[in-house]
Order: sequence, then C-alpha cells, then structure tokens
Amino acid sequence: MTRADVRPAPRGAAVPTSDIHPVSALSSPDAALIAAAQADATIDRIAHVKLSSVVLPLAVPISDAKVLTGRQKPMTEVVFLIAEITTEQGYEGVGFSYSKRAGGPGQFAHAQEIAPVLIGEDPSDIGKIWTKLTWAGASVGRSGLATQAIAAIDVSLWDLKAKRAGLPLAKLLGSHRDSVRTYNTSGGFLHTPIDEVIENAGRSLEAGIGAIKLKVGQPDWRQDVARVTAVREALDPDVPLMVDANQQWDRATAMRMGRIFEEFGLVWIEEPLDAYDAEGHANLARALDTPIATGEMLASVAEHVRLIDAGASDVVQPDAPRIGGITQFQKLAAYAEAKQLELAPHFAMEIHLHLAAAYPIEPWVEHFDWLDPLFDEQLETRDGRMYVSDRPGLGFTLSEQARAWTVGTAEFGKRP
Ligand SMILES: [Mg+2]
Repeated sequence: MTRADVRPAPRGAAVPTSDIHPVSALSSPDAALIAAAQADATIDRIAHVKLSSVVLPLAVPISDAKVLTGRQKPMTEVVFLIAEITTEQGYEGVGFSYSKRAGGPGQFAHAQEIAPVLIGEDPSDIGKIWTKLTWAGASVGRSGLATQAIAAIDVSLWDLKAKRAGLPLAKLLGSHRDSVRTYNTSGGFLHTPIDEVIENAGRSLEAGIGAIKLKVGQPDWRQDVARVTAVREALDPDVPLMVDANQQWDRATAMRMGRIFEEFGLVWIEEPLDAYDAEGHANLARALDTPIATGEMLASVAEHVRLIDAGASDVVQPDAPRIGGITQFQKLAAYAEAKQLELAPHFAMEIHLHLAAAYPIEPWVEHFDWLDPLFDEQLETRDGRMYVSDRPGLGFTLSEQARAWTVGTAEFGKRP
C-alpha cells in the first residue's frame, strides 16, 4: 500500500485517522514498505493554486491625514490578491493580501512567479513553504510587496489547515476568548463632516461595536481638537475613543497634540509620526500617559522588532497581509507577548479576529465593513465585541461579487 492508495476524502470532510496512517491497517506487514511509509510523513499534497486579482471599489473616496497634507490622493478602491489552494485530497484554502492606491498588479505578478514551487508540497508544512517561497523570490527582499504576495498564499494555507482540522482558525491556534472587543474606524475619516462622524459613531455603537476611532493630523490642529471634543461630548462618557494621525505630525507637533489630548483619556494615539521613526515614537511613549500605537505600515517582522526594541509601540499594530501572513504574525505576536505589549491588528478583521482571539492580552480588532461584499458570510458584533464563528478555517467563502470584480487570474497545477 502506498500513499496513492489512500482514498481522497470528499471536499470539506474530515479524513479518518485510519486513512492518514494506513500502515496500521496492513494485514501482512512488509518491513520495507512500513519503513518507507514512516519515513514519508507527507499527508496530503498541494495539487492546484489559483491566484486572482480583485478590485474592490469604495462607495466614497476616502481621505485621512495623508490626503489633507497633500501626500496622497483620496482612495477609491482596494486591490486584493486572492490565493485559492486545493490539495490532492480535495481540501481547499482561501487567503488574501491587499494593497491601497498602488502595488496590486505588482503583488499579483510576484505571486505568479513564485506559485509554481507550491505544487506537490504538503500544505500542512506552512513554515517550510513560507521559507521556500521567500527563497524563490529572494533577490527582491524579505519585506514589502514580495512578502505581501507570499502573505495571500500563507493565509490560504492556514485556512486550509484549520478546515482540515474542522476548527475555526482561532481554535487551531488556541483561543484565549471567543470574542474580541472591536472599534470602528470607517465612520471617522477626515472627508466626513463632523455631524456625520457623530451619526456614524452612533450607528456603530448600535451595531454592537464598542469604541470609535477618529482621524486627526490635519494642517490646522485646532480642527482636530474641535472634532475630538465634539465627538467626546456627543457620546456616552464610557465609550472608548482613539485617534489616528496617519504619520502626519512632526515630533514637536506630536508631543504638543499628545499633551492636549491627554485630558480625553484616549485608548491610544495612533501613528503620530512617520512609521519608521522609532526614536520619535519612543520619546512620545515615555512622555505621555496615553499609549502610543503604531506599526500598520511596516512590511516585515524585523521592522516591528526594531520599533518594539526602541520602546516605540505601547500598542503593536501588525497587519498580517502586510508582514507576510499568519506565520509571520504569530512570530511577532510571540515577541510582543514576551514584552507584555498590547496588540491591535490593522484592517482585515476577517483574518485578525482569529489572531486577536489567540493573543493572551486582549486586543482590539479594527472593524471595517469594506470587505463585506467579497464574502458570503459576515462577522457578528454585539455588546462591543466581535465573535469568532464556529465555521472552520477563517470562515469565509468568496462571493459572486468577488468573482465579478476579478480583473485577472492565473492557475498552476491540476485540480484533483
Ligand atoms: Mg491607522
């Protein structure tokens, strides 16, 4: 009996243990065959990979401080790199990475160049595969766009692994909680008049989201203070608030604004400075009572470690698709835990809910409804918390709308 004799399980079905270890079922043991089987621990193999580039339009153009200071244009779409992986036994995983404003075609192109090395690999050996993919594209580095192309594949492999186990990803990793506190960002952008921001905040709270984040960092700092004051006065005093300057203050302005905002008791001040200014963030973290949050723009674990080691991040804000996927996120989470830091993953709540549920110190998950049209399933929020569903894997299937917004596909290997 060889591995090829193991009958594939139907798609989505659990594989009986006896099928995974056929050696025990041999009626007349063959020593050589047993030895060969024991030496080959491969349980399943990647048979087919489909990559898709999906352009998600946004309902209204989005502006944060980077737009008001003239550095970027309003955002009108988000481009997703989606990786769908199928194994010889019929298990499937779906993962994604994304880019804003630029980089989508580059991520998609890099993924197409490295994806062929996946065929035939055991999909459970995710760390090994991550390394293999990194070496396949090593000359363009271990951060940024190349790493983000790998992230879509890595997330897909974790989704697949959890589905094989019949577990939500959070349970596969090991949950500390079945729901995580969540806050809204999408209602508080700078293109939104303050009356609407307050209305949006009320709607978010009614929808079961527990806290509100406001964008700040405008050229006229008095407008920032006025908007935060208006929201603070409009909401129940117990509703936690955060602000996010999207890297647009200089060091002196950040210190001054941080001191002004101390009286609001904010949960954190996010990205007060340039994302790579470790020393500047560390100075703020030491000087202010309000915690300093940063890290969403970083593109590798190594970049996060540099800021953490400098004391720059009271609240670490990794983005799994941006730093290479779940494999890398988990390494960073272990490092952050060792330093007893708080965690508040950036964007992509569909992935980060699971990772936040598995972090010992309770994080905040950022609620964004932008990705809702991409999937058939929706996340549940109530009483200020977002709930991990009992669906296996990440718990999402691509919608017909996602297929309709697909602008390119590439396939490797053969469907089983
Ligand atoms: Mg932010």
